[in-house]
Amino acid sequence: MSYFSIQNVSKSYDSQKALHDFSLNLDKGQFLAVVGESGSGKSTLLRIMAGLEVQDSGTVHLGQDEILNPKKKLVSGYNEIKLIHQDFHLYPNINVEENISRTLLHFEKEYAKNRVETLLRLLGLKEFRDRLPRQLSGGQQQKVAIAKALSVEPEILLLDEPFSSLDTIQKHKLITELKELFREMGTTVIFVTHDLDDALRLTDNLIILQKGKVVQKGNSQELCQHPKTRYIARLFSPINAIPDREFSYVRPADVKLRTKGEFLAHVVDSRFLVHFNSLQVRLKNSGQLWEVDDPLRKYQAGDRVYLSFEEGKVLVLKQ
Ligand code: ADP
Ligand code: MG
Repeated sequence: MSYFSIQNVSKSYDSQKALHDFSLNLDKGQFLAVVGESGSGKSTLLRIMAGLEVQDSGTVHLGQDEILNPKKKLVSGYNEIKLIHQDFHLYPNINVEENISRTLLHFEKEYAKNRVETLLRLLGLKEFRDRLPRQLSGGQQQKVAIAKALSVEPEILLLDEPFSSLDTIQKHKLITELKELFREMGTTVIFVTHDLDDALRLTDNLIILQKGKVVQKGNSQELCQHPKTRYIARLFSPINAIPDREFSYVRPADVKLRTKGEFLAHVVDSRFLVHFNSLQVRLKNSGQLWEVDDPLRKYQAGDRVYLSFEEGKVLVLKQ
C-alpha cells in the first residue's frame, strides 16, 4: 500500500456531484498539484483528504491508518494532515510568535519553544515575532499561517489556493521559498489551484480536475502537447479554431506569419506581452478572430498577413 492513498472517493451535495470516483496514490515527500477551475471540486477533495468532510463513498489512508471523516471521529481532523486555506485564520489579537505556539499548547514546553524558534527561522519571520497579524503584509501573514500548520509537524500539507491574495512577485517568491522548506522537512504536499503557472512553480506532477472528475494526469509537457480537453489546452495558451474543420485547433506559437500562405487575415491589434508579441488577426474568409505570435514584432494593426501551420501541430479536441 502506498503512503497516502485515496480510493474511489465520491461526494455529492444535494443531487449535484462535487467529486466523482477520485483515486490517488502518493509517496512520502512527493509534491502534487491539482488544477481545476472554480467549482471543479478542489476544496471538497482537500477537506475529505483531511478528514474534515464526510464522503459518500471511498476511503483515505495514511500508511495503514484509515483517515476517518467527522461522522466516524469525535474530534474531526488530524495533526498528521493539515489544511491551509486562502484566508489565513490567524488570531488577530496575539502576536506572530503566540499565533504559532498556540497550536502547541498541549506539547511539552521545551519542545514547543524549540519548534516555534525553528519555524520562525525557517520562514524568515524572526524579526516579525512581536507583531500582530494586521501589522504584516499578506505574504508574511500567509507564512505565519503556514508556520502554524507546520508547528505540529504534519506529514501531509494540503494547500487550498493559499496564495490568491498575494501579488505575483510576492507569490512567486513565497512558493520558491516554501518549496525548499517542504523538501527540507520531507513534507508531502498537495496544492490545489486554478492557476497552472502557480502549480508549475511548485511541481510538475499534475492532475487536472473538471466538474469533479480527473480528466488528465501527467507533467506539463505531456499535458501541453497532448491535452485531452479544450480546457486543458487553454491552461497553456489560447487556441484558435481552424475554419471548416470540426474540433481542430492550433496554438498561437504554431501559426506562421508569411507574405504568402493559406489564410489571409488582417491584423486587428498588436500587443507586447513580455515573452512574445501577440497579434489579434481577423481571418478574411471566415471572419474568425485568431491570436498569433509575432516574435519579431513585424506587424501592426491594419497590416495584411498570410497564416499557415504544420499539420502535426493541429490539436484535435472533442470536448
Ligand atoms: P472548488 O474548490 O474547485 O471551487 P468546491 O469543492 O468548493 O470546488 O465545490 C465543488 C462543487 O460542490 C461546487 O458546485 C459547489 O457549489 C458545491 N459545494 C461545495 N461545498 C458545498 C456545500 N457545503 N453545500 C452544497 N454545495 C457545495
Ligand atoms: Mg475551493
